[in-house]
Amino acid sequence: MSTFDKREEGFEKKFALDEEQKFKAEARRNKLLGLWAAEQLGKSGDEAAAYAKDVVAADFEEAGDADVLRKVATELERGVAKPQLADELAKAEFSNSQNANVQKWSAYISGAVNRQDYLERALEWVSKGKDNIGEYMSRHRYDTTITELKTYFNSVIDWVSSVFLDVESEMRGLEWGRLYETYHDRPYNPSLVSKEVQRLLADPYVTNRKGIFEYILGGCVDTKLLAVRVFDEPTKRIVYAAQTEKAKASGTSNCPLCALGQDANKARIWKLNEMDADHVAAWSKGGATDLRNCQMLCKTHNQVKGNR
Ligand SMILES: [Zn+2]
Repeated sequence: MSTFDKREEGFEKKFALDEEQKFKAEARRNKLLGLWAAEQLGKSGDEAAAYAKDVVAADFEEAGDADVLRKVATELERGVAKPQLADELAKAEFSNSQNANVQKWSAYISGAVNRQDYLERALEWVSKGKDNIGEYMSRHRYDTTITELKTYFNSVIDWVSSVFLDVESEMRGLEWGRLYETYHDRPYNPSLVSKEVQRLLADPYVTNRKGIFEYILGGCVDTKLLAVRVFDEPTKRIVYAAQTEKAKASGTSNCPLCALGQDANKARIWKLNEMDADHVAAWSKGGATDLRNCQMLCKTHNQVKGNR
């Protein structure tokens, strides 16, 4: 073999080695590209590894890199563009001041449309609570529509506006999503509801006007929601003194309900701190929170009569 032949053989070997190294480097690069793309597409573990293998295999379709890039680009567009689409749709619906419904919604939702407060409320309602929004969004990140979000939101708004015929400023910003979940299966008579809302809004003893709506939805039972004004200390002292003086003179208990009984407390004189103020005519039946409608009862009887 001539020197020239030997040199030629050496070149060929080196060329083959270079080609092999280039091939390995490209495969490695394609695998990394595949793993990165898999992550963007929300794949992990075995699914991500399988996807990376597909990307490596795609390079054999034709010479050059165009085949690999085409595969990854197409799939990223299809997969990653989706959540952006749902996100854009949601913003177009709930963060768009041009939306004709905003006026109606603003009766029930506080905040500003362009600050995305409405979008946040819509997500909070459909997720059944603020804490679940993240979980809801990750579950729906590949959605191409916002049908569920819109449908649920409209159900809440439609329900509120069908139960409460009048729009009151106190309704703005209430937890309508929670109220809908709790009460939307119950029947209501909207015209009676409307009368009750007006009556309570006009009642000076109702100190929490925002509580009126849930109070009515719950069947007008939980007066705590209304924070009805309680008797003040001077009133209690005056009533206590008058009741006690009368009781001592007649030898009966200063708790009018104990005085009616037959047990040991029949003639007991309770101390002021052993008694609580009670509405003679229940507040819920129109009784006022003033001196004439106040009586002091021992704590036991006050509890039995109930906090009205
Ligand atoms: Zn008593």
